[in-house]
Amino acid sequence: MAAAGSELVRITVNVKEAAAAVPAIVENVRAAGYTTPIIGDFHYNGHTLLAEFPACAAALDKYRINPGNVGFGTKHDANFATMIEVACRHEKPVRIGVNWGSLDQSVLTRLMDDNAKRPDPVDATSVLHEAMIVSALESAAFAERCGLPHDRIIISARMGSKGIVASTAAWAVLLQEGIGDTIRISLTPAPGASRTEEVIVAQQVLQSMGLRQFTPQVAACPGCGRTTSTFFQELADEIQTYIRTRMPEWKTRHRGVEAMHVAVMGCIVNGPGESKQANIGISLPGTGEDPKAPVFIDGKKVTTLQGEEIVPRFKQMLEEYIVTHYSAG
Ligand code: SF4
Repeated sequence: MAAAGSELVRITVNVKEAAAAVPAIVENVRAAGYTTPIIGDFHYNGHTLLAEFPACAAALDKYRINPGNVGFGTKHDANFATMIEVACRHEKPVRIGVNWGSLDQSVLTRLMDDNAKRPDPVDATSVLHEAMIVSALESAAFAERCGLPHDRIIISARMGSKGIVASTAAWAVLLQEGIGDTIRISLTPAPGASRTEEVIVAQQVLQSMGLRQFTPQVAACPGCGRTTSTFFQELADEIQTYIRTRMPEWKTRHRGVEAMHVAVMGCIVNGPGESKQANIGISLPGTGEDPKAPVFIDGKKVTTLQGEEIVPRFKQMLEEYIVTHYSAG
């Protein structure tokens, strides 16, 4: 996750074996060169694990606690207090989370009681929705009073494009309003798939809104009646993949490379125009055009590629552009 660009990484600490393994996990991650904060995610037994495994408590950078997951009844406050005491002793921040599965029952009970006293009580589902919002707002307000950062994740995890669209729609509104200090996208990965898609989507949301820059943007031809082969798709995909693969090295050596714009266009109608707007762009031949691909750098046509040389030569020009335009970091 850190290699993909995540600036916070969370690991589940759910059993004694997991707590015992945390110091070695953190040590190995640091030895590999990653300084990304590692957050321990606790559920129900966090008070026990943090107290019994002080090395785990010390090794983690932050504890994540859901108020609804720290025990019930009289044990709730005592367990919560134990975790906070450990956090204070080790000088660790705590991230208070809330979601449908762990809604703070005291908030829900309070709102249910308030609702029952109304002359026109609303239905239970409405109270549940309200409790979710109130719990998030109260914890965020408390974080603000304490001078702490806060995030708001108000969407449920979903798979594939539905998850990406739902997350983007929710976050776009919040970010436009300047709400939130951290962002997390929750996507349900396909079996065996990488969780790094969440990181990529989060970065893309921020970059699309002009809030942060993480990786060069590739403007690509979507295809239309002027494309007669799949080459424009293959080249766009290959360049996107190449950029993402090379970014870990580029960003350590070439300051500002993440702001670069690349165009991979499909024909003479839009290709030269889009390519001229990019830092470096290529306009592939469309239907009926000569099989040539002009390349533009900083708005000027610099060469024309064709045949087998298009892919390797364009990648080479990309590398040369980065070396000559983005200073060593
Ligand atoms: S760049 Fe050309 S081929 Fe691609 S969508 Fe635009 S008009 Fe069609």
